[in-house]
Amino acid sequence: MISDRYKSYKRIYADNAATTKMGKSAIDAMLPYMDGIYGNPSSLHSEGQKAAEALVNARERIAACLGCTAREITFTSGGSEADNQAIVSAARLGERKGKKHIISTAFEHHAVLHTLEKLKNQGFEITLLDVHENGLVSAAEVEQAIRPDTCLVTVMYANNEIGTVQPVSEIGAVCRERGVIFHTDAVQAVGHLCIDVQKQNIDMLSLSAHKFHGPKGIGVLCARKGILLSNLIEGGAQERGKRAGTENIPAIMGMAAALEEACANMDENAQRLTSLRDKLIDGLSQIPHSVLNGDAQKRLPGNVSFCFEGIEGESLLLLLDDKGVCASSGSACTSGSLDPSHVLLAIGRVHDIAHGSLRLSLSAENTDEEIEYIIKSVKEVVEYLRGISPIWRDLVSGKKEFIIK
Ligand SMILES: *Cc1c(COP(=O)(O)O)cnc(C)c1O
Repeated sequence: MISDRYKSYKRIYADNAATTKMGKSAIDAMLPYMDGIYGNPSSLHSEGQKAAEALVNARERIAACLGCTAREITFTSGGSEADNQAIVSAARLGERKGKKHIISTAFEHHAVLHTLEKLKNQGFEITLLDVHENGLVSAAEVEQAIRPDTCLVTVMYANNEIGTVQPVSEIGAVCRERGVIFHTDAVQAVGHLCIDVQKQNIDMLSLSAHKFHGPKGIGVLCARKGILLSNLIEGGAQERGKRAGTENIPAIMGMAAALEEACANMDENAQRLTSLRDKLIDGLSQIPHSVLNGDAQKRLPGNVSFCFEGIEGESLLLLLDDKGVCASSGSACTSGSLDPSHVLLAIGRVHDIAHGSLRLSLSAENTDEEIEYIIKSVKEVVEYLRGISPIWRDLVSGKKEFIIK
């Protein structure tokens, strides 16, 4: 009886791009700082100084994983804050020199796009580069867009919906040569891909712990020495005066542990995930009138993104949830609105197709059996939904033409 019940509650988590389960090493690293070592690192007594030592230690370990110095690390409340602070800082530096042009791409995270929108209202000019159908931008296109008044290029490392990995090193080289600050939102890449900010000419990088099995509400803005950061939050002198507020020591320790673990297991995890990913892509490609979003190779090891013609993404997700599969559509961040994903529109998917999207993002905990179960479930659900869809009837009868052949 009990085992049957357990079975019916078994869940398959394939939404790791939204957030990840915390790893044991991260939890273990946090506990002592919630219980015994709870001092404020700004306090002069021993309890405070122990916390301050932990902070120094975590900063050094995180810097080592990114190829920067400890001084170049600023702790933030997550990826969104890091993106905001990076972009606003570069804009303020540019403004002083009369440079008010920023280059980015059409498929950035909203933390970037909405910050750029705000700057636009303050008189900045924003160039959003088109993204190719394969979900990539090129360094040559970035170079062509650079003007004498360009103060910042911000291009994400890996896209959170379709998983495509951008030629960050090449873009960094172009920006370095032209003397333009280069920021990358690496929230989806850190812990999953090998990163070295110095070698890759990255001036500023954002990361978030909860995307690599660390705690939520903590992240890093890594900014090259010499780049003056602007404060988003005023107050105490924490983070060298650039980010006020008592440091979240437990979360910072959890983040350091999760990052070290992810980097130590990176090759092994990537290999495993790539094989699961490709198996899933092969399986879902068999569904008629389906298309993989983003380049098949230049994508995150764990990302699978599809569009299915004649399907409404939200129904697909709810029925998959009933079958125990946690997935996402392309439009997780715009849920509550009926607008299709800006990412899918950016790669040229038309509205009807963009509405039928499915993102499955895997972790090293997923198994071959789970992948088989996901393939079977998606096939069943797509078939069921098409069976009750008037649009599908029109497509099959030839009244409407298929867009995905
Ligand atoms: C999740 C995510 C963010 C936001 O990070 P938070 O820590 O949740 O604020 C920013 N950019 C990308 C690409 C993301 O995937």
